[in-house]
Amino acid sequence: MTGIADGRRRVIVLGSTGSIGVSALDVIAHLVDSGHARLDVVGLAAGSRSGLLAEQAGRLGVAHVAIADASRAGDIAVENVHAGPDAARELVEAVAEPGDLVVGAMVGAAGLPATIAAIDRGCDVALANKETLVAAGALVMPLARQRGVELYPVDSEHSAIAQCLRSGRGIDAVRRIVLTASGGPFRAWSPERIATATPADALSHPTWEMGRKISVDSASMMNKTLEVIEAHWLFGLDADGIEVVVHRQSIVHGFVEFVDGSVVAQLGPPDMRTPIQYALTGGTRRPGNSKRLDWRTLSSLDFEPVDPARFPALGLARSVIEQGGTSGAILNAANEIAVEAFLDERIPFPRIHDLVREALERLPVGPVETLQDVLAADAEARAFVAKSCLTAQESA
Ligand code: NAD
Ligand code: MG
Repeated sequence: MTGIADGRRRVIVLGSTGSIGVSALDVIAHLVDSGHARLDVVGLAAGSRSGLLAEQAGRLGVAHVAIADASRAGDIAVENVHAGPDAARELVEAVAEPGDLVVGAMVGAAGLPATIAAIDRGCDVALANKETLVAAGALVMPLARQRGVELYPVDSEHSAIAQCLRSGRGIDAVRRIVLTASGGPFRAWSPERIATATPADALSHPTWEMGRKISVDSASMMNKTLEVIEAHWLFGLDADGIEVVVHRQSIVHGFVEFVDGSVVAQLGPPDMRTPIQYALTGGTRRPGNSKRLDWRTLSSLDFEPVDPARFPALGLARSVIEQGGTSGAILNAANEIAVEAFLDERIPFPRIHDLVREALERLPVGPVETLQDVLAADAEARAFVAKSCLTAQESA
């Protein structure tokens, strides 16, 4: 494999200017500077922050970048600049070689074509971009198997489950997995108060610093809905095998209950550099640069069930897993548009869940055989929710 010849591994970071992308570059710099891994960043993709993208490319000596906002392409003095909505996929197709590692840190279904292109080229993928699996797990997982590539989960809960699973033998040994949820900023709010939440309220997460979309998803717990569906694809479990528990300290990231009654949990401070490094190193243990857990300051770990009255979104995960087909693409796309509308103050917070549920109830669910099936369902759900938001505004 060309990408890992002489122990050096080429890396492409998609979404390099975001919260995960910046942390991934920080972990890569740490691993390289400390001599723990030989990683060579050869491509970077971003949405619109051209200044930061150009600075990263200059600092790392990267000759290939992609930017979705074509109007910013002129700001980047790099040899090869791909620009426009398909730029990330074009970058992968131009630069990726078999055996490279692609970090999928773009937000939303926008990351799907580039991720599929990376897998298709025989690259391993460190995947943070959960929307890709939610919308198209039915394509991504078989393609990864067929190409013989690894998908390393970056999401902290899924990294935790992957680590816990290593202590059992085979998925038959698993009774169920449990993903933890911080509960987000509205964990202790009443449903009436949640109904009045502003974008600023939803963006102030108590334990994690993240991009805007995932912060709103955490507040609605749609993030956990996406993660249950992500876990279904990654670990091959049905809805009965995946549970969620609220754990406000975000120290335990997930646990696996085995058939013999043993429960194995993974713990760590809320610092994404830990799961990012685990993914970047293919699950090997190297000295890290993330925060450390100090048991002396760990006075308690609390667990409580999810309250469906406050967080109705979680209930949608089961229906998507059971329905399959394009239902995941519909749920994801509807949520992306509804979150944007909420952040633009066009709809109230609880309307996010209502719109996603309406999209799932009203739009036809078809089989997923090609990327086109996913993209068509995605487009239809976006149009449905955009129209519902407009109608709501007109009648307001
Ligand atoms: P973010 O908004 O901070 O960053 C998103 C990145 O994607 C940015 O670099 C942006 O420029 C880029 N991007 C957006 N549209 C693009 C396009 N069309 N083409 C190329 N690049 C594009 O988001 P984030 O918090 O870093 O989250 C990224 C992904 O990781 C999401 O799927 C999220 O659910 C997942 N994730 C994030 C965290 C976290 O702690 N932030 C934890 C677990 C999973
Ligand atoms: Mg997570």
